[in-house]
Amino acid sequence: MEPSDFDQVLQRAARWVASYLKNTREFPVLSASRPGAVAEAIAPAMPEDGEPLGALLDDFERIVMPGITHWNHPRFFAYFAITGSEAGILAELLAAALNVNAMLWRTSPAATEVEEAALGWLRDALGLPQRLFGVVYDTASVSGLHALAAARESLGLDIRNLGTAGRDLPRLRVYCTAETHSHIEKDAILLGIGRDNVVKIATDDAFRMDPAALELALTEDRAAGYLPMCVAATVGTTSTTSIDPVRAIAAVCRQHRVWLHVDAAYAGPAAIVPELRWVLDGSELADSIVVNPHKWLFVPIDLSVLYTPHEALLRRAFSLIPAYLETSESEVRNYMDYGVQLGRRFRGLKLWFVLRAYGRAGIVARLRNHVAWAQELAHRIGAATDFEILAPHPLSVVCFRHAPKAIGGDALDAHNQRIVDAVNRTGFAFLSTTRLRGRLALRMAIGNERTTEADVFETWDLILRTARGLIA
Ligand code: PLP
Repeated sequence: MEPSDFDQVLQRAARWVASYLKNTREFPVLSASRPGAVAEAIAPAMPEDGEPLGALLDDFERIVMPGITHWNHPRFFAYFAITGSEAGILAELLAAALNVNAMLWRTSPAATEVEEAALGWLRDALGLPQRLFGVVYDTASVSGLHALAAARESLGLDIRNLGTAGRDLPRLRVYCTAETHSHIEKDAILLGIGRDNVVKIATDDAFRMDPAALELALTEDRAAGYLPMCVAATVGTTSTTSIDPVRAIAAVCRQHRVWLHVDAAYAGPAAIVPELRWVLDGSELADSIVVNPHKWLFVPIDLSVLYTPHEALLRRAFSLIPAYLETSESEVRNYMDYGVQLGRRFRGLKLWFVLRAYGRAGIVARLRNHVAWAQELAHRIGAATDFEILAPHPLSVVCFRHAPKAIGGDALDAHNQRIVDAVNRTGFAFLSTTRLRGRLALRMAIGNERTTEADVFETWDLILRTARGLIA
């Protein structure tokens, strides 16, 4: 390919991206693609001869786009939104072009040092202590895995070298709640802890971990011969964004000498907003904290951050340097030492770009809006007598359901499922559901940077009309 050809196709792609971001709201949020439709449009085998890049762009629009659910859409209210921010996309493009592997400092000093600097900025903006070391992984699930592995390493059982099989080891246990994200359980599976040793501590009316119940479980388990390894508290649970009382949990952990992990994947960034700083209250006492800038901080997927005061311990858990990776530099950090993977993308660039492009004030203003709109939404839902709010809503997520008198308790789940399916089929907005104390809840999460106040309330009007229309 001639360089000028690439230049042309790149310019076409750049125009496409800019126009797509400007017009995302014109697309149906949820793809209407039927199962198999995209696969059928793809040739059954790879081409014998290479094709021009322009043809790939044509097929991207023809084949791929109909099968896209638009996470960038301002009315994407399902799960936790992510934003394809301009600054983040730019960084992704440049990082792809550089194609560096950030495994060792020397394999691109800038990749390591930009990551370190951006993580320092973020840590300070979150109000976390300067002594925390940070490292980027792709997702919170993987950040959590590394935190739990460090917790296991801290026990001094030398599982790293001796493994767990055929040894006289106490059974290790992890403590969380039924509201904890499922990755903690998956991480426990992977680390050989076993699902049965993931103990679900009771929660209060607001879906928060009960520290007294935790204390009791730890005491009883120790007496029964288990070895508590880690307590996983959550700041912003997935279903309702409930915030576990981390300070009180930290006191229990300290007393029982158990590692405290804080999963603040979604809600952590809220701490940048002065009046929401409290969400991370007590997290400075944690042994590990996860924050996902790819959730509520406008960084495109994938970028999750693990902070820990135990840098050396995390390194001890994972560092293994074969001869072909030995280096002569001292005083530098080789990020391959802090995880399972050797090869690492230059993810720090997009975090650095996003933090610079928005600035602290820009982030604060947007997060404030999201929270304010969610509170107003909850107010309107509360004012509609045939609806009910199903959980406290401290941040930008509201869980609720339609509960008209005409429909009996048992039929409400099916009725609310019909509502969400009908709303999602319109392509106007996309909501997801969860289950709270066994009841199906509609869940509306505000977090995309391009969402406007009108998007939130027009969607609420659509839900209202749809719900009432289904029983008329
Ligand atoms: N933790 C919480 C609280 C979450 O809500 C989620 C996902 O929604 C995760 C962890 C997992 O995130 P990831 O997709 O980055 O693994």
